[in-house]
Amino acid sequence: MSEGRRARPQPTPETQHFWDGTRAGELRLQRCNACRKVYFPPRPFCPACAARDVSVFAASGKGRLYSYVIHHRPVPGFTPPYAIAVVELEEGPRMMTNITDCPQTPEAFELDMPVEVAFEKLDDEITLPLFRPARETTTRLAASLTAREEQVLRTRYGR
Ligand SMILES: [Zn+2]
Repeated sequence: MSEGRRARPQPTPETQHFWDGTRAGELRLQRCNACRKVYFPPRPFCPACAARDVSVFAASGKGRLYSYVIHHRPVPGFTPPYAIAVVELEEGPRMMTNITDCPQTPEAFELDMPVEVAFEKLDDEITLPLFRPARETTTRLAASLTAREEQVLRTRYGR
């Protein structure tokens, strides 16, 4: 394994559909056709009822920040501080991931905030499903920042 790169996932026959999906810009989950449970990570049988009649479908890519930890020690491929997050998908399953496009600080990581998938191409075979604050959140943050800046301006210039 080369240094300075993050651990590269190894597709297996069971996870191939997932990696084919991320490469195509889809977050693919599995659903049990017997009990309708939606699950992740990929496996050829339902974790709830063990049925082997399962199908693959494209998830919405939307979810909420369920939990996170911020790491301050360097590991290959990451510049500290960086957060390891657990996202609860709209469809139900939880996924361990990274939150991108935002500062890696507790202030930026509001529990339960809406997030959306952001695909990051690692190489020709692997595209990682990361998540970023959903646009509504970003817009709200930007709006509140603007309001604060206006206030600063008003204070500074007596407007
Ligand atoms: Zn089932």
